[in-house]
Amino acid sequence: MRRIIFLASVICLGVMLTAGMQPSTVQAKTKFVTIGTGGITGVYYPTGGAISKIINKKRKEYGIRCTVESTGGSVFNVNAVMSGDLEFGIVQSDRQYQAWNGLAEWKKKGPQKDLRAVFSIHPESVTLVVAEDAGIKTIHDLKGKRVNIGNPGSGQRQNSIDALTSAGIDYKEDIIAEHVKAAEAPGLLQDGRIDAFFYTVGHPSGAIKEATAGRRKVRIIPVTTIDTLLAKFPYYAPAAIPVKFYPGAANKQDISTFGVKATFVTSAKVPDDVVYAITKEVFENFDRFKKLHPAYEVLTKEGMLQGLSAPIHPGAMRYYKEAGLMK
Ligand code: GLU
Repeated sequence: MRRIIFLASVICLGVMLTAGMQPSTVQAKTKFVTIGTGGITGVYYPTGGAISKIINKKRKEYGIRCTVESTGGSVFNVNAVMSGDLEFGIVQSDRQYQAWNGLAEWKKKGPQKDLRAVFSIHPESVTLVVAEDAGIKTIHDLKGKRVNIGNPGSGQRQNSIDALTSAGIDYKEDIIAEHVKAAEAPGLLQDGRIDAFFYTVGHPSGAIKEATAGRRKVRIIPVTTIDTLLAKFPYYAPAAIPVKFYPGAANKQDISTFGVKATFVTSAKVPDDVVYAITKEVFENFDRFKKLHPAYEVLTKEGMLQGLSAPIHPGAMRYYKEAGLMK
């Protein structure tokens, strides 16, 4: 009996080797792809989850297994997609523009020529959250305060600096700037260790809910010093934060500010069939996708093709042409 099993194994191995397969890769047909997101209380993380959920449903058909990684945010995601550490990333539209054009964090490295756009997702707004007892009524009152502007690697760090600059505040001189991850800021605010924080995020987000649901009373402050920002930077647009999402906040009305869009990016090196499959599944299941997060309420298919600066990946383009969304 043992001899038979032994013989059978030898034959099996022989067949595998003749077929050009390594014994260890016989089952390794699945393509593993990872989406870089943001902190788990942001909207990128559940967005990565929503996209994965849709594509993983068709695992048998496409052989794609998609997973999500929590990261430091947009800038980290662009760099990880460019180095090949991640296949996909969620990235603010302003960061996509800067990476493609070799600006901001990419000034020294130059334009990120392999960056490719897939689609854009929900709107994100620059959200300035302050403690009521810190004596901050307008953005100008941030002077001398301890303010989290965001970790290096996050998308919002530059938005915070731009917002402060628009109000005549130098982040290096006029405030005590903290550089922690957005997920940690609500806790620090509630504990009295910071007076305010900025977060560029879709709404509703877990982080802003957490910040406004504690014992310390919290308010979202409008950022309205934005005329020069809108004139200078093509990627910024006026935005409003719906107060209905944050019943714990001291605000009674929606809050005016400025914003960008979350976008889904990849690298020119990621195979067309993988990008095609993900694009197709998200668009063909659009109504189901939209229900996966309240921040997607405003999404339209046409809107998801706007706000992209890098060239559209050929795999995504194939689907857009097939679906008549692009010529
Ligand atoms: N906009 C943030 C960033 O790029 C992330 C927001 C989120 O995780 O929802 O760093």
